[in-house]
Amino acid sequence: MRVSTLSIGSELICGEVIDTNAGHIAELLLGCGLRVQRHVVVGDCEPDIGEALIELAQKNDAVVVTGGLGPTVDDVTALAAAHATGRRLVVNEELKGHLRAFSAKLGDPGGCHPSDKQAMIPAKSAVIPNPTGTACGFHFMHGGCFFFFLPGVPSEMDRMLRETVLPFLSVRVMHKRVVLSAFLNVFGLSEPEVDGLLAGIFSGSHTIQMSICVTFPWIRITLRADADTETAARTSLQEAVELVRERLGDAIFSEGHETIEQAVARLFARRGLTLALAESCTGGLIAKRLTDVPGSSAFFLEGVVTYSNAAKMRLLEVPQDILEVRGAVSSECAAAMATGVRGAAGSDLGLAVTGIAGPDGGTDDKPVGTVFISLAAPDGSWTKRFRFGDNREEIRTLTAWMALDWLRRYLGGIPFSV
Ligand code: ATP
Repeated sequence: MRVSTLSIGSELICGEVIDTNAGHIAELLLGCGLRVQRHVVVGDCEPDIGEALIELAQKNDAVVVTGGLGPTVDDVTALAAAHATGRRLVVNEELKGHLRAFSAKLGDPGGCHPSDKQAMIPAKSAVIPNPTGTACGFHFMHGGCFFFFLPGVPSEMDRMLRETVLPFLSVRVMHKRVVLSAFLNVFGLSEPEVDGLLAGIFSGSHTIQMSICVTFPWIRITLRADADTETAARTSLQEAVELVRERLGDAIFSEGHETIEQAVARLFARRGLTLALAESCTGGLIAKRLTDVPGSSAFFLEGVVTYSNAAKMRLLEVPQDILEVRGAVSSECAAAMATGVRGAAGSDLGLAVTGIAGPDGGTDDKPVGTVFISLAAPDGSWTKRFRFGDNREEIRTLTAWMALDWLRRYLGGIPFSV
């Protein structure tokens, strides 16, 4: 079955609202073995909507449409659907009842007349109930294609899709396919590096589809297995995951939707170790991310933001001569910060970052983007100099990511290059 989606809304075209419905619908359809062929976005313009509907009907067996079912003058989806398919717009008594009941529930026993517009749908349509809002949906068949019209509000759309559209489509899908997905999350390799390592990996496969998506500063690899049975899809997917793992190795920090800080927290729990942080250029970003994870108090003892030299000396006992001779952004200072915070907190691990996030403060010797990360542990200590570009936000983000990756590698017994 060929399926496409259509989002309607002028706010979507101009970028005022991000079209999250499209991805969400595609994901839910995939769960039913239906891969979306095409996604189209049009504004609240009747001729554009009509044209899109007719074009999509020619190439699809089903189209899921969202948006433009509200009571305002710019909500013209029902009218456009009626005109495009040669139907009249008629008052639907079931919808009228729904609107009356809904407005009574909101304290308007007489019902709100302007919203009667929402009771008008194309003739020969069936209602798609909306348990949580006024805008009900409707569906009909035109030119051999099933059309489903749902409101744009994501929560309402989601429920109506699950409760009415997906069950309707599921029983009509012939030659049902099972599509299963896996996500592998990568840090420390560039997009061309990942691309090169994975080149040709599934070129002969009809079952596996792979996509590489960069979400600075990490990369998500999506694998989809498409097969006749769940067992076949699961086996293919597992083999595909193993193949990618063989090629990318330790650069994969997690699978599924696990974030890097969640991966680190999981490893701390497994190892039973504790952590203290000394941050300078990240201003507490690493502590924030780790404490975003519920239960992080089990391993995270404390974090200090030692921005000034005075704070580095007072709280971490960084020797004054290191600050005067080597500077606050130096390998020696980072190492002293890591050792200092570990000693002060009595933690198993002490991790420190110090760097120049810019835009000012760079020198020839230490340009903006120079960062030192240091890890002090019971079995040794490691410090490394990095150069993370010249954009303040990116430098801070990359520093936090690299620090988290160091923790992941240390805790997982994975070597990290120093
Ligand atoms: P309502 O009766 O609630 O207005 P509607 O069908 O007319 O329903 P719209 O007016 O098009 O829906 O959109 C309502 C809100 O839903 C928008 O302001 C927007 O925040 C959100 N929305 C609409 N379409 C999308 C979309 N494709 N992705 C994410 N959000 C959307």
